[in-house]
Amino acid sequence: MAKLYFRHGTVGSAKTLNLLAVAHNYRQQGKEILLLKPELDDRFGKEKIKSRAGLEMPADVLIRKDTDLFLLDFEGVDCILVDEVQFMASRIIEQFRTISVEKGIPVICYGLRTDFRSNLFEGSKRLLELADSIEEVKATCHFCNRKSIMNLKHVDGVAVSDGPVIQLGAEESYFPACYSCYQMQLAPAVTK
Ligand SMILES: [Zn+2]
Repeated sequence: MAKLYFRHGTVGSAKTLNLLAVAHNYRQQGKEILLLKPELDDRFGKEKIKSRAGLEMPADVLIRKDTDLFLLDFEGVDCILVDEVQFMASRIIEQFRTISVEKGIPVICYGLRTDFRSNLFEGSKRLLELADSIEEVKATCHFCNRKSIMNLKHVDGVAVSDGPVIQLGAEESYFPACYSCYQMQLAPAVTK
């Protein structure tokens, strides 16, 4: 059996850059990788896995809620790399788990742990429950120098903690934040 990995981090933690570096290393060694991402993420064009640093690779397969991973051809695949895994359904994560065990292919997933309301995403929750390895891709708080653990959302310059969870194409309004700054931003006007 191979392992199922969850590498989580806040916005701005260079998760995709990390994924692309792993993909590059595998290919340098002449190994076969499969790059997956959810179909709903069209920030940078549907088929591309692109980091904010500018590097990109085409995704091999776009995963929908009803995708059956067992219909894919895994012949000769050495590793499966998954971007934006937080948006994937629980049953997709369960299929990754089965693939790693039954086909012996490691599945390395990158994504956010929680949304801007501080709740776990569906895909991330299932990964926390099922992954062999859970690692944090670290980033610094946008407002101080502590480590970020929250994703703060700004709409028109104002911090919000409600509204729709998925608002793709508006990433400039998300900031990595430590818990203290996250709280402070959401309730700034309280004076004693
Ligand atoms: Zn902070």
